[in-house]
Amino acid sequence: MEDYRQMWSELGLDLEAHDGLLAVLPGIYEDTILSQEGRPEGMSYFDFVFSEIHGLRIKELYDHRKAGGKVVGTFCTYVPEELIIAAGGIYVGLCAGACVADEEAEKYLPRNLCALIKSSLGFKLARVCPYIESCDLLVGETTCDGKKKYFEILNELQPVHVMELPQRKEDSDRRLWREEVGSFVSRLEELTGNKIIEEAVRGAVRIVNDKRRALLRLAELRKSDPPVISGRDALLINQIAFYDDPERLTGKVNELCDELDERKASGTGIAGAVRPRILLSGCPMAIPNWKVPAIIETSGAVVAMDEMCTGIRYSRHLVEDAGDMDGMLDAIADRYLKIDCAVFTPNQERLEHIKELVNDYNIDAVVHHSLQFCDPYTIEAFRIEKEIDVPFLSIETDYSQEDVGQLSTRIEALIEMISSPDRA
Ligand code: SF4
Ligand code: SF4
Repeated sequence: MEDYRQMWSELGLDLEAHDGLLAVLPGIYEDTILSQEGRPEGMSYFDFVFSEIHGLRIKELYDHRKAGGKVVGTFCTYVPEELIIAAGGIYVGLCAGACVADEEAEKYLPRNLCALIKSSLGFKLARVCPYIESCDLLVGETTCDGKKKYFEILNELQPVHVMELPQRKEDSDRRLWREEVGSFVSRLEELTGNKIIEEAVRGAVRIVNDKRRALLRLAELRKSDPPVISGRDALLINQIAFYDDPERLTGKVNELCDELDERKASGTGIAGAVRPRILLSGCPMAIPNWKVPAIIETSGAVVAMDEMCTGIRYSRHLVEDAGDMDGMLDAIADRYLKIDCAVFTPNQERLEHIKELVNDYNIDAVVHHSLQFCDPYTIEAFRIEKEIDVPFLSIETDYSQEDVGQLSTRIEALIEMISSPDRA
């Protein structure tokens, strides 16, 4: 890491605070990810990417910018990655998953705001995130109220382009969203100085579709019982997919899936392979937020699928190849509007998708994860509980470790209940 100090300094990081962050990350990774037994060998690439989280990938962004390229930061799965690639840019996901500088962030934001927003601002104010400092443009979106107001604050520190996301899926909403996609094209052209042309969009669609196909292949393999990969490893891959080079990631996910195919054929599972199967649903979990899946899996169950933006919600839909430039932009707008985030109303699609996943993945129980103060997901949890026919546990949590004991007790009780021989 020593070689990167000059680069971090040029990016404006607070080196002392950044050293403090880097000192704790390997321990968390060791305890939560590396300590698992029976991991597939193909995870070594993702372990390496994580070990270089503020090193090699940042150097790639740095070199790209030195050569005149632009880096665009995103906070949400609604931002079309294809258009950033088509403009010659690199996208990086910026959602943060650890408590950093909460006190500083609370000078601008109320205490009772979700951890994801507070943490993102904390990382920015503490100057410890080389990703946000590498960005030439940040892209926000009008999803929940907290984010909308957060982007106003962030815009005073760094340029932010906000995409207006409708909250319904009627024809007028589709027209609005299609216009927003068009405006995003203009903003990217202005930023990069590159005209976004049809061929570039088609090529970018191919790259991102291939990435999503690889993630869907991984998702499909998680139907295996015994499970061929843990939920924590699958989550890590999905988290890394937001910032790694997409073509390289696709290759590595497919290599891993080849190995998982062999594991499946030979009946080789992760350690302690016969386990109750949990669907983890709700708010996204940004790196290094592995708290809930770690509790579930160290309590004897497996997270067999994640219905989250750091899970199948990110890869579920592909962009169709739809002819000319206008057709491609229509197809991109359509693809993104299919995402079933809880900020939409009504949001029947998400409920139906959860039911499908429960069935397809042979799920024994659903654990619904809401970040504290996230109204859209917390409220949807009530309806989901009423309409699914497997045991359901709704948890509200944040990034602190203070509630680990209490969460463990509740999750262990759920796992004991679904493991009981009386439950048939
Ligand atoms: S949960 Fe909703 S707001 Fe959050 S990243 Fe996903 S789509 Fe965006
Ligand atoms: S977790 Fe909920 S409150 Fe937080 S940013 Fe996402 S939608 Fe908004």
